[in-house]
Amino acid sequence: MSDDTVTMEDIEEARTTLAGRIVRTPLVPSASLSARAGSPVHLKLEQLQITGSFKLRGATNAVLHLSPEERARGVVGVSTGNHGRGLAHAAKAAGARCVICMSRLVPRNKIEGIEALGAEVRIVGNSQDDAQVEAERLAAAQGLVMVPPFDQRHVIAGQGTLGLEIVEDLPQVETVVVPLSGGGLIAGMARALKALKADARVIGVTMERGAAMYQSQKAGRPVEVEELPSLADALGGGIGLDNRYTFAMVRELVDEMHLLGEAAIAEAIRHAYWQERQVIEGSGAVGIAALQAGLIDEPGVTAVLLSGANIDMTLHNRLINGEDVEPAA
Ligand SMILES: *Cc1c(COP(=O)(O)O)cnc(C)c1O
Repeated sequence: MSDDTVTMEDIEEARTTLAGRIVRTPLVPSASLSARAGSPVHLKLEQLQITGSFKLRGATNAVLHLSPEERARGVVGVSTGNHGRGLAHAAKAAGARCVICMSRLVPRNKIEGIEALGAEVRIVGNSQDDAQVEAERLAAAQGLVMVPPFDQRHVIAGQGTLGLEIVEDLPQVETVVVPLSGGGLIAGMARALKALKADARVIGVTMERGAAMYQSQKAGRPVEVEELPSLADALGGGIGLDNRYTFAMVRELVDEMHLLGEAAIAEAIRHAYWQERQVIEGSGAVGIAALQAGLIDEPGVTAVLLSGANIDMTLHNRLINGEDVEPAA
């Protein structure tokens, strides 16, 4: 077994570890997207997961793989969003201390959201980088274990359990469409999907405004990209210049990648609400957007992962009522 990849065995083990600790989310057919695609399209409603996103799977698997000594010391993470929520919830459930580091620019409601899940919040500096430095300092000084959002074995294996569930619920699946940022989600899912169905097509979708994995694959090595505010805010951030797992796994396992503009993402949030009756954040809606835009050639029997629900509801309200919203920085 290679040290720098995640295997089907890791994912099957994650599934046993996670049993009873996460929701097994439903896979439901979409009449309107099936009509648009000309073949059956199903939606995996992972936005209904506890904490509102799939990040709970990886974070819970990582926390439960700590040694008793590590668990007694606790975990630290850097995230104002879905990973922070997932990690806080996972740590609380395991009775472990959790510290989430954030910059001073983070709005009050996000801080309160993470504190409500039982985590300590440390506010430092003016950027994500400053928060990262503080998290590393705490890890060194207090023995807290850093749990990264995507480039970690147990995190990737936890997200991979989504691939197992999709094949069980839709054995005839031909194409799986997955939101893509750091690649932990798609790497784990693609490993499971290809192990169970070697010819399944795995397609990553991300936004034009900061497509770090897309540009890195094109360059043949991890690169940094300029980031702009996007409706798909959970897809921001780089892949790490010292990326260990996800860059190589995406290269090995992902068949296609597509980019989306802001208007298409907004349209997909509207579609999810009015046609599917689901509240989805921008990052969670990119799979729908790719199908609506006709980016996927002959999709066949398709599963689209809806990855998260954590959108500001005032913004959501404006979008579904047809406003053109420019995302704030
Ligand atoms: C984190 C996240 C993603 C992207 O996951 P990666 O593992 O970084 O590729 C997609 N959608 C939502 C809602 C997320 O929170």
